[in-house]
Amino acid sequence: MYNFDYKKSLGQNFLKDKIVVEKIVSAINYEDNNLVIEIGPGSGAMTKELLKRVDFAILYEIDTRLEKILFKELSDYVNYELIFDDFLKRNIGNDLSKYNYDNLYIVANLPYYITTPIINKIVADKLPVKEMVIMIQKEVADRLSSKPGSRDYGQITVFLNYFFEIEKVLTVSKNCFVPKPKVDSAVIKMKRREQKELVKDEEFFEKIVKDSFRFKRKTIKNNLSNYDLKKIDIILNKYGFDINTRSECIPYYVFVEIANELL
Ligand code: SAM
Repeated sequence: MYNFDYKKSLGQNFLKDKIVVEKIVSAINYEDNNLVIEIGPGSGAMTKELLKRVDFAILYEIDTRLEKILFKELSDYVNYELIFDDFLKRNIGNDLSKYNYDNLYIVANLPYYITTPIINKIVADKLPVKEMVIMIQKEVADRLSSKPGSRDYGQITVFLNYFFEIEKVLTVSKNCFVPKPKVDSAVIKMKRREQKELVKDEEFFEKIVKDSFRFKRKTIKNNLSNYDLKKIDIILNKYGFDINTRSECIPYYVFVEIANELL
């Protein structure tokens, strides 16, 4: 470990547990001609293991103080581009357009203060990511990987589940990091879904999902009272639900059909 002045404001909790690093980087099945994005390589704990396995990686790190450390740690490798910039502000599509690849993946131990904005950006920028394996706060991991009927199931679960199959890979203790964070972490794997029914208008889908969860524990009838409840009921009936069902019990693909029908 380096004598480094960790910045809390940048979510700098670096992984020191080699077994966890190994589990994260090997959670992806890297297919041929792959390109992998790592967000926040830090001092390169995961990057070194990643570069052993992948064809090429683009690393986005906001903190230029890490430049020397990273170049030293990664000196055995040439299969990467290191970009010192804010991932959130960067035009990622532009960076990717320079490369020829067939399979895109993302691996990251995310800075927790911007977990949701980063995931939202990946979706909004329509990055053609096949799989991503990310370490996030355990509480958020539970929410994103929850299933209908669970207390954790909510708006963001439904929205992201339209794009990705989400599963929790492992829980990681605070003790695996330096400095030690206040909360436990978990690793989730998000695998691009083969869509059965495509959302016709993503913005409208997002709005319907948001409205459906406006009041937690209320029924669809209460939450979507401004919409055509008859049409909604017909779709719900197809799946064994009705308008008195609570939103937290309804799978994402039913919301897709509802949004497409109401458009
Ligand atoms: N990957 C390293 C590890 O596992 O040890 C470090 C992970 S640390 C939780 C998060 C990293 O993201 C830090 O290196 C931090 O400087 C970087 N970071 C924070 N905000 C960022 C941003 N907006 N864009 C790119 N990197 C960022």
